[in-house]
Amino acid sequence: MNAFSFQNPVKLIFGKGQLSQLAEELSLYGKKVLVVYGGGSIKKNGLYDQVISVLNDANMEVFELAGVEPNPRLSTAKHGADICKQEGIEVILAVGGGSVIDCTKLIAAAAKYDGDPWDLVTRKAIPADALPFGTVLTLAATGSEMNAGSVITNEETQEKYGWGNPLVFPKFSILDPENTFTVPLNQTVYGIVDMMSHMFEQYYHNATNTPVQDEMIEGVLRSVIETAPKLVEDLENYELRETILFAGTIGLNGFLQMGYNGDWASHNIEHAVSAVYDIPHAGGLAIIFPRWMRHNVNVNPERFAKIATKVFNVDPAGKTAEEVAFEGIDRLATFWASLDAPTNLSDYNIDDSKIDLMVEKAMVNGEYGNFNKLNAVDTKAILTACL
Ligand code: NAP
Ligand code: FE
Repeated sequence: MNAFSFQNPVKLIFGKGQLSQLAEELSLYGKKVLVVYGGGSIKKNGLYDQVISVLNDANMEVFELAGVEPNPRLSTAKHGADICKQEGIEVILAVGGGSVIDCTKLIAAAAKYDGDPWDLVTRKAIPADALPFGTVLTLAATGSEMNAGSVITNEETQEKYGWGNPLVFPKFSILDPENTFTVPLNQTVYGIVDMMSHMFEQYYHNATNTPVQDEMIEGVLRSVIETAPKLVEDLENYELRETILFAGTIGLNGFLQMGYNGDWASHNIEHAVSAVYDIPHAGGLAIIFPRWMRHNVNVNPERFAKIATKVFNVDPAGKTAEEVAFEGIDRLATFWASLDAPTNLSDYNIDDSKIDLMVEKAMVNGEYGNFNKLNAVDTKAILTACL
């Protein structure tokens, strides 16, 4: 392991009916609240009404920012920050999935920053302060509800970057599995692919001697693989939703990344693809990750063989580590395809016409990846294999 320090201050409030804690948690931070949400799913499923009635009962002064896009946009975060500044907002409440929460993180920091919020995303400026915010999560996927990361798209420049700062950890996050019952089949699958990808990113790291972390990641992955096929047949099953919701949060709240840096190259490539084509984040990951794996087996075949045997039940008898590794990757690709996740960029009508632009965007900060450094030639090879 590498030396590390770890701190995660998010108060996680998990379980059926836990919206009952909202008023008490929120009022610790003020009375003037900006409620941030997406394109209307919470209005359809009734969660919006529940949240507003809790806030009204608590005599909070409510402002709203609706319409946060999947792959949240800079312009929307700027709008939210302007509302906070003009109205003297004291606390923000994000009600939605990763996009709504990520957008809220930038709003919270930009509300306390005088320059262009894009400076915070590109690290031209480091936030010195942020408004407090809580979340009511509606979709199991990103872990954003319990981490300090955020991914924002600048629609004008076609750039999509992740940024983060301890100031934008949520103060609390309320996770009720019932609030995820209405997540449609395709988004449910995307969520599963995203959380699995987060665990793979962390499994392929830059340290040695991490047996405890390996067991934790392998165990969470096995639970997700066991649960996912049942959930896609039974979307309103409380226990299956509960398992997946918890897995998504544990998958990226820092617990699985103590003592090393995960790889994160596949996420970098995906951000380049969805900056150009605005495809769903996990749709891109389902296509890219197996290709990243095949491209990198030779870096440490034993590492790939370990996960193949322990998570994908590959029988290693009489096989080389490479053979076991490739069999495990094939099983992963087959598993995602069995859930109806996309398998090729052509599923999104993406051809090779902008491949160099995507490579350029992936390379914007130079070589990347902590398990194996990738250059432009590697990136183009991986994207070409994705076509
Ligand atoms: P999302 O983009 O927040 O939501 C996807 C879709 O699902 C939206 O149309 C949303 O509708 C709908 N939805 C959400 N909850 C629903 C519910 N309960 N019932 C019905 N529909 C529902 O999806 P996400 O996968 O959570 O977030 C993806 C974003 O997070 C990407 O931009 C990705 O890059 C980023 N990301 C962040 C992190 C991180 O650590 N911060 C990690 C990985 C990825 P509404 O618009 O109506 O809400
Ligand atoms: Fe992700």
